[in-house]
Amino acid sequence: MKKTYKTIIIGAGASGLMLASLLEEKSNVLLIDTNLRIGAKIAISGGGKCNLTNAHVSSDNYLGAEWFVQSVLDRFDQHAVLAWFAQRGLQPQLRKEGQYFCPNSADEVLEVFRRELVDVAMQLGTSVTEISQTEGGFVVKTDRGAVSSEHLVVASGGLSFSRIGASGIGFEVARCFGHTVRPLAPALVGFTVQKEQFFFKELSGASIPVEITVGEKIFGGDLLFTHKGISGPAVLNASLYWKKGKITIDFLPHFLPASIKGSRKQLSTLLPLPKKVAKRFLTVLNISDKPAVEVSVDAWDKLSILYRYSFAPAGTFGYTKAEVTRGGVACEEIDPYTLMSFKKENLYFIGEVLDVAGELGGYNFQWAFASAYGCAKSLD
Ligand SMILES: Cc1cc2nc3c(=O)[nH]c(=O)nc-3n(C[C@H](O)[C@H](O)[C@H](O)COP(=O)(O)OP(=O)(O)OC[C@H]3O[C@@H](n4cnc5c(N)ncnc54)[C@H](O)[C@@H]3O)c2cc1C
Repeated sequence: MKKTYKTIIIGAGASGLMLASLLEEKSNVLLIDTNLRIGAKIAISGGGKCNLTNAHVSSDNYLGAEWFVQSVLDRFDQHAVLAWFAQRGLQPQLRKEGQYFCPNSADEVLEVFRRELVDVAMQLGTSVTEISQTEGGFVVKTDRGAVSSEHLVVASGGLSFSRIGASGIGFEVARCFGHTVRPLAPALVGFTVQKEQFFFKELSGASIPVEITVGEKIFGGDLLFTHKGISGPAVLNASLYWKKGKITIDFLPHFLPASIKGSRKQLSTLLPLPKKVAKRFLTVLNISDKPAVEVSVDAWDKLSILYRYSFAPAGTFGYTKAEVTRGGVACEEIDPYTLMSFKKENLYFIGEVLDVAGELGGYNFQWAFASAYGCAKSLD
């Protein structure tokens, strides 16, 4: 006979773990995950130190319906998240750009969850394959049999990093109950380039500070040239808002040519770029690498293109490299207060499966935790 629970949570990732931890009544909850260990993405996040949240969080940092995102964030904001972890012995440290990281390792976050979840039943190494409904709730079919519940929470994340459990089950469940799933795409990911920018690949390994404009957004930060194209924090953030078409890169932010025009040193030495990058750019722009005093007006003009280098990326590095999935379950079909579906009673969606994706800097875990909070308050 099928075992029945009050609540089944699909996914022991950031949102599922926070939800199960926040529930007052844990004894009738089942957490299911494909992976044999909880929080596989948390374990590899933030370079192994998990960027848990950010000092400055608002709906501006997210791609998604503003009113929905802000209402969810307001109920369990970054201060509440930090306080919650601090009460459990984890004091994240503030690093650059308001980002909070674990002092030593992401395992410190998982340790908190392990302690919180001793009373929660778990089926790890178990993949959910199908959901059906009964009069009293849901039947969850897995590759190890079926279980049922009164409430079902879909916390199964997006499509990125399938090698650590990601699957499209959340989107399938949503569609099956009549939800709109907004087009999915890899985001927080590097760009591949077209033929005209193949010379970027020759600069593989070089990293430079840039400013990237994509639509109405401007991101400062490092750009990393790779053998596939471009990556690095500024590029990853730009990818969140990129919908085909052009981006514009300022390769010389805050640099004033007037400061070097009288110099007798070579241009490639004076430009605030790694030498191999400066030399390659000069060649591409057909500017000879002369002492700055000898550079013609025409050449200075050509050089100014580096302030607004505009091109259309060929695509992205894809889901295997993307930190998040853009798109997902349409927010207007979900109650922002309870995270329950407007289409099916007792069905909930939290975390990345929703059509909300955050910028780099701890915003995605903040989203996962905040959406779990609303759901927990509703379930208790
Ligand atoms: C390399 C990397 C680094 C990142 N670093 C950061 C960071 O430092 N800060 C930050 O804010 N964000 C970071 N992110 C993004 C962040 O990890 C995600 O946005 C966040 O984990 C989403 O939480 P979630 O609970 O919605 O989904 P997930 O954490 O992805 O959890 C979903 C869970 O569902 C399980 N699942 C999926 N399908 C099934 C199925 N069919 N049956 C059973 N289980 C299933 C998966 O195994 C997974 O464990 C990073 C992402 C990556 C890939």
